[in-house]
Amino acid sequence: MRLILLGPPGAGKGTQAQHLVAKYGLVQLSTGDMLRTAVKAGTPIGRQAQDIMAQGALVPDDVVVSIVEQRIEQPDARKGFILDGFPRTEPQAEALDRMLAKHGLALDAVIELKVDEVALIRRIESRIAEMTARGETLRPDDNPELLHRRLAAYRAQTEPLIAYYQRHGMLRTVDGMAPIPDVARQIEQALSGSEALARPAPAAKAKPRAVAKKAGKIGKKSKTQRKTSRNPAQTARRRPAAKRRPNAKPEVGAKARRRNRRR
Ligand code: ADP
Repeated sequence: MRLILLGPPGAGKGTQAQHLVAKYGLVQLSTGDMLRTAVKAGTPIGRQAQDIMAQGALVPDDVVVSIVEQRIEQPDARKGFILDGFPRTEPQAEALDRMLAKHGLALDAVIELKVDEVALIRRIESRIAEMTARGETLRPDDNPELLHRRLAAYRAQTEPLIAYYQRHGMLRTVDGMAPIPDVARQIEQALSGSEALARPAPAAKAKPRAVAKKAGKIGKKSKTQRKTSRNPAQTARRRPAAKRRPNAKPEVGAKARRRNRRR
């Protein structure tokens, strides 16, 4: 499963990503974390990103795109990933589309955590105050003034992605103001819908098939069926083609069979 968590700073993307990591065994790819690691390590990317991040602005698209691409090529990302904090601009979203297509991968869903901005600011400000009172180290950009700048950057550059993924039929919106476990439940519900769309083998569908098989209505699977059912991702990709079948050209196999019959 490959997901994007979309929402403003403080919407709870990180918290929900951790829940999804535990539940589905995915890896969390947070561009914010990757950039902070690069800053700490003093790498060329880190040196480039440091001042930009400290101002609450966005790091250039090509920089983040390259770190994400390197990361999704790692073996642990093969089982699926959650993108947290990426994409953040429309060019990043387009670059991600190209990157996934190049690797033969597809997104399963984009989860938007919808939040009320006024309540959000209050939530983050009290989190900052609590952390300060406990003597915990804050992120350099975790201060009320920079928070407003990060929110402005979100509104101007990232919010248009909601319409982008809506157009692509990928968007699932959940109420990010609900208590954490409720948000997690809403996300699971949204994903069960996506999974059913992407992988047509839910238990509910297996029943009628089992009944039909018993009644002798379903025989052995054809070679093509056996091939496609081995790989759920492939089955998912072939599905729209099957839907279009009435207008589709006959398959090569069918043509060949007709030719043989004529002989
Ligand atoms: P938050 O979502 O709370 O703003 P993040 O940890 O996701 O925090 O990001 C922190 C900072 O890292 C951002 O303000 C920005 O400067 C930089 N950053 C993270 N992801 C991206 C991205 N996809 N594109 C550009 N800059 C990014």
